[in-house]
Amino acid sequence: MLTYLTLTAGLFGLLVGSFLNVVIYRVPIVLMRGWRRECKEFLAEDSGVQFPEESKDEAAFNIAFPRSHCPSCKKLVPAWCNIPILSYLILKGRCLHCKVKISLRYPFVELLTGIATAFVVYQYGLTIEAAAVLVFTWTLISLTWIDIDHQLLPDSMTLPLMWLGLLLNAQGMFTDIHSALYGAIVGYLSLWSVYWLFKLLTGKEGMGFGDFKLLAALGAWVGWQHLPAIIVLSSLVGAVLGTLNIVLSGQDKNKPIPFGPYLAIAGWIAFFWGEALLNHYLQFLNPTV
Ligand SMILES: [Zn+2]
Repeated sequence: MLTYLTLTAGLFGLLVGSFLNVVIYRVPIVLMRGWRRECKEFLAEDSGVQFPEESKDEAAFNIAFPRSHCPSCKKLVPAWCNIPILSYLILKGRCLHCKVKISLRYPFVELLTGIATAFVVYQYGLTIEAAAVLVFTWTLISLTWIDIDHQLLPDSMTLPLMWLGLLLNAQGMFTDIHSALYGAIVGYLSLWSVYWLFKLLTGKEGMGFGDFKLLAALGAWVGWQHLPAIIVLSSLVGAVLGTLNIVLSGQDKNKPIPFGPYLAIAGWIAFFWGEALLNHYLQFLNPTV
C-alpha cells in the first residue's frame, strides 16, 4: 500500500516538476517586466520621457499565457512533448521543430521534484502535513533555480513561505509557535548582521536581502533551534559545490554565487533531520549525557 502510494506520489511529482520548470522560467520574467513598467511610469511622471507601449503579448504574459514554445524557433510545444522525462528521452533532448538542444535541467528538475514528492509522501502518508511539506519542498526547488538563473529570490515566494510556516506552527504542526516566531526573526537578523558586517569590512555586498527573507522563512518552518545547523550546512554545501563549480567550469571566483540554493538545501535537510543533527551535536559536546 505504502509503496503504491509512494510511486503514485512520485509520478504526480514529475508533473509538478514540469510545472515548476514553467514557474522558474516565467516568474522572473513577469517580475522584471513589472519593475521595468514601474520604472517607465516613474520616469514618465518625473521627467516626461515617453516610452513606446508594450506589445499586447508582452503585457498579457503570465504563468499560463502564452502556451509553451521553443525559446529558439518560437514554435508551439505540442502537448505530447510536455510529458515529464519521457518526452525528453523520445526527443533525445532536442526541439521537435528546430532540433535545438533542450537543457538537461528540465528533466532534472522534474526528476528531483518526483523523488522529493515521493519521499515526503513516504514520510507523512496522505495527510495535511504532507500537503504542507510538499508546498515547502516545491517552493524551495523553484527558489533554488530562480536564484541560480537570476540571483534573485522573489518576495512573492519567500514571504508567503514564511507566513505559511508561522500559520501552520501556530497550530504546532512542526514546531511550537515560539520556536517558529523566533526562528523567523533570528533567521532574518542573523544574515542581516552578516551582510552589514561584511559590507563595513570589505565595502562589498556578500548576499542579497532575499537571502535574509529565505532564512526567515526556513526559521518559521523549522524553529530557531535549527538555524545554526542550516547556516553551518549551507556554508559546507556552498564551499563544496562552489569549489566544484570553479574547478569544473573554470568560473571566475569573484563572480557572485547565489547563496539561496545552499540555504534551501540546508533548510530542507534541517527540516527532516534537524533533530537528529542537533542530538548528535549535543552528544558531541557532552558525551556523558
Ligand atoms: Zn525549436
